[in-house]
Amino acid sequence: MNNNEENKGKKIIEKFQRRQTISIILTAIIVFLSPFLIISFYFSKFYKLEILKSIQVIMLVLILIIPVITVFLRRCPNCGHFFGRYNIAPTYCSKCGIKLK
Ligand SMILES: [Zn+2]
Repeated sequence: MNNNEENKGKKIIEKFQRRQTISIILTAIIVFLSPFLIISFYFSKFYKLEILKSIQVIMLVLILIIPVITVFLRRCPNCGHFFGRYNIAPTYCSKCGIKLK
């Protein structure tokens, strides 16, 4: 019984670490995409390229969607409590108290 609970705890930590990795990758994508988007808007003033427009749309959609995804990822895997934007690496859940590291 005790072993079972330990396993559950380990699984929650793993799940949370995985989510955190995905959320870091997604945030990095936004950080890299934003300057490209600005540059592409600058270029689109001079070059009327259809492909440039499609790339801009894709980048804009990603930049708008990613924060929504990270909101879902930055939740406690046990109780669903949202950690907020500034609590980057919580070691435990402030609501249910489960260990996350
Ligand atoms: Zn929790």
